[in-house]
Amino acid sequence: MRDVIVAANWKMHTTPSDAGDLASTIAARTRVSGVTRVICPPFVSLAVVRDTLASSDPDVGVGAQTVHHELQGAYTGEIAAPMLVGLASWVIVGHSERRRDAAETDELIGRKLGRAVDAGLRPILCVGERLDEREAGNQADVVERQLAGALAAREPAELLAGGMVIAYEPVWAIGTGRNASGRDAAAMSATIRDVLAGLGWKAAADDVPVLYGGSVTSSNIAEFLAEPSIDGALVGGASLKPDEMAGIVARAGLTAAARTAA
Ligand code: PEP
Repeated sequence: MRDVIVAANWKMHTTPSDAGDLASTIAARTRVSGVTRVICPPFVSLAVVRDTLASSDPDVGVGAQTVHHELQGAYTGEIAAPMLVGLASWVIVGHSERRRDAAETDELIGRKLGRAVDAGLRPILCVGERLDEREAGNQADVVERQLAGALAAREPAELLAGGMVIAYEPVWAIGTGRNASGRDAAAMSATIRDVLAGLGWKAAADDVPVLYGGSVTSSNIAEFLAEPSIDGALVGGASLKPDEMAGIVARAGLTAAARTAA
């Protein structure tokens, strides 16, 4: 049975003086059995979010939003995986905003993935097509290429043991208010597991949680979690709103309970 996961990507929002309060408010509003919750604040707020959650709700995981592909060196402004140990237990890798703004390639993202699992950080690998790629009907090829490129450097068993999660995030749905349909997300989730199986994961492909991300709200989360192949959500804008997170995690709890009962 796969975990049901709701991960909050705060992007470049909050400061260290307000992140702790927001994290504890969200934690208090989302205590739902069976749902793995993760909050990914900006780097500078990792410590305050970690400390606040440690005393208020240690069940909520803390994640970073990216990590560097090298262990150390002359990389001004960057953060290496070993630096995150003790601050975070999760890390988002390959978010489309980093692919777009920091020119991250699939090969580079693969190196980040490796650094994450070596440091004991559970990676959330983001994949997803742009609008022009979907309109051309190429979405499955794009995601297959992204997965093959990012996963090439490591053995499936290593990534599986590292707790890798995949987030299908169509670029055109991120921050636009235009979410994918549950059916399209489920189709891509099946494609992702087929690609993993083809890359040598075989039956283990079924064990990898696949999240949907892209304009998820408390109003549309049910559409995604109604799909058995979708195991939760990576939430951006709505994750800054405690009411939204309460609704999203409450719905995720229904899926978790149904899976336990099945
Ligand atoms: C994201 O940042 O991963 C995301 C899905 O953002 P939003 O929910 O705002 O579309």
